[in-house]
Amino acid sequence: MLDIIASVDIGATKITASLCNRDGIIIRIYQRTRLTGDEGSIPDQVKELVDTCFVKARLEKDKLIAVGISTAGPFQRMDGKLHLVSPNICGGMTPERGVLPNSWRSVPIEKELSKHFKNLVIQNDAVSGVMAERTFGAGKGYENLLYVTWSTGIGTGAFVDGKLIRGKNGNAPHGGHVFLGDTGPVCGCGNTCDLEAVASGTAIALQYGGGATTAEVFEAYSRGDAKAKKVIQEAATYFARGLASINSVLDTKMIVIGGSVFLNNRDLLLPLVKEEFYRSFPALSRDVLFATSELGEYLGDIAAISLVIPEDWIKEWRTTKPWERAPDTIYLDG
Ligand SMILES: [Zn+2]
Repeated sequence: MLDIIASVDIGATKITASLCNRDGIIIRIYQRTRLTGDEGSIPDQVKELVDTCFVKARLEKDKLIAVGISTAGPFQRMDGKLHLVSPNICGGMTPERGVLPNSWRSVPIEKELSKHFKNLVIQNDAVSGVMAERTFGAGKGYENLLYVTWSTGIGTGAFVDGKLIRGKNGNAPHGGHVFLGDTGPVCGCGNTCDLEAVASGTAIALQYGGGATTAEVFEAYSRGDAKAKKVIQEAATYFARGLASINSVLDTKMIVIGGSVFLNNRDLLLPLVKEEFYRSFPALSRDVLFATSELGEYLGDIAAISLVIPEDWIKEWRTTKPWERAPDTIYLDG
């Protein structure tokens, strides 16, 4: 029997778990994120999902050698363990928003899961995202690499001089929350006019108003709607300025962009972003390259897998790209 690794991608709306061996992904399941109950709900759900993978795949758990967890961040370290403090998961952080059915202020993710799993690695999803892109995606071969997810929120992860940067709580670089002005929309984190507040998918929908979804704003743009054009161009301008600010700190070489807002509207957004980015201080911006994430819907899985994949599987996986022939995903709530 081959060694098995488990990967778990925790988002605000769903949790995806999979098992892999050297040959590829064996099983992939997902379930809506359990946002009610006590602070242990999500760690319990993660353990149950991994257990369910083993049961459904009829495999023995003693072959499990490591577990990678990629999760929406940020983290705080309490008593030496990482706690999840995501405003999209912990309702107690911003009770005034009233959008989450819990009063959690943090989720003791490492403390609870380390009771069940050995060789557990937990990273925020943009940090694991940059590992995935550098190991298997568009960032292969770059020592200085920034990965940006442009989605409901905005997240960034980076390699500098070949080293993954993490920071004291594993949050570096948390680019969604760099300030871009002093007046304007308020972010879910409480900041006014930070990158996520002015350029995320959520921001695009809110700026357009009228209850439109982000996708509907892009549809309106393609119909020639002047307001949609203004909102999207502003978001792209802010996004590019955010990247220019992060680049002025990190001096990167390659920026890989993923996330649903970008991937669904790449042909529209990329030229706008590049134009504004290269307008910033040329000595810093001129040599920077842009690429689109190549890992698509599997980025979350590959991100978590990249945290724990044995070194001697990587070469083969780069060639065979086993995520492209992953089995159908099993939806547990369905
Ligand atoms: Zn923010």
